[in-house]
Amino acid sequence: MTILFPATLAGSLPKPAWLAETQKLWPQWKSQGDELLQAKADATLLWIKAQEDAGLDIVGDGEQSRQHFVHGFLEQVEGIDFEHKVKMGIRNNRYDAMVPQVVAPLRLKGRVHAFEAQLARAHTKKKLKFTLPGPMTIVDTVADRFYGEGEEGRIKMAFAFAELLNQEALALQADGVDIIQFDEPAFNVYLKEAADWGVKALERAAQGLTCTTAVHICYGYGIQANVDWKNTLGDEWRQYEQVFPALAKSSIRQVSLECFHSHVPPELMKLLDGKDVLVGVIDVASDVIETPEQVADTIGTALQFVPKNRLFACTNCGLAPMSREVAMAKLEALAKGAALARQRYAD
Ligand code: ZN
Repeated sequence: MTILFPATLAGSLPKPAWLAETQKLWPQWKSQGDELLQAKADATLLWIKAQEDAGLDIVGDGEQSRQHFVHGFLEQVEGIDFEHKVKMGIRNNRYDAMVPQVVAPLRLKGRVHAFEAQLARAHTKKKLKFTLPGPMTIVDTVADRFYGEGEEGRIKMAFAFAELLNQEALALQADGVDIIQFDEPAFNVYLKEAADWGVKALERAAQGLTCTTAVHICYGYGIQANVDWKNTLGDEWRQYEQVFPALAKSSIRQVSLECFHSHVPPELMKLLDGKDVLVGVIDVASDVIETPEQVADTIGTALQFVPKNRLFACTNCGLAPMSREVAMAKLEALAKGAALARQRYAD
């Protein structure tokens, strides 16, 4: 029997204070070498247990082994200079980040996420989701000194990264991962480019995968720069309207989107006909814990536009910059709300 409204998370979870600096998007690790590896493993297991205890149906590694969801991948790519990071405005200059530079042809140095994926797989019988950055978002989080100016260079670089992502994704599938999700917040920023070539680059990254594939598109973590940006977007956020039709036609099976407390008109979910929809029922920009009733209400709203058997309950985005206590309480609210929705909307 398949369960209605499976509960899952977008991806990241807070790092414990003994692993890394807390409540930061680019935290410094607290140890190095074997000690760091052990700390990452401990944190991964801790969060798998916590997700199971909270009642989630699909769990992940909480991205405990990577400093940041994009740079964690880039660190294993040859052709990138991490020694000379430069300041770059990312997400269309919404905020500045210190980013490494692409200086030569790109090649994987080896496996990127084998350690944490295999560890997670060995320690849970739940469905396991693993996240990777999407090609367009990578291109927006790295400086280029190799592929050339303008959109042509960006497209070339995106497809080069897509090939590397595909290698790692196929290996993750072989590790026993059930769902591979690519995170593409850039799709909500570069709307035309996302529809023109971003989705194609994403499909290249997912090529040949037989496990479930997903894409997560959001309005970012609950950091101040994102909160300020959202305040400029007006009463109706229609960004999804541009890219959803292209995604509906794509080979990607699941789309994770923001819903609760966002200004996204819920009817835009109708544009994802034929896809599983991971509805954001948990706000990551607020420490206020949702009630199960609120979560079930959001699911009820989404049910007007998404078939019952295609609806998943998810967080709006990753929980990385939050406190552990808040994140834990939010995971519990998510699972309890999904359970309540099962009672409410069973038939
Ligand atoms: Zn997100």
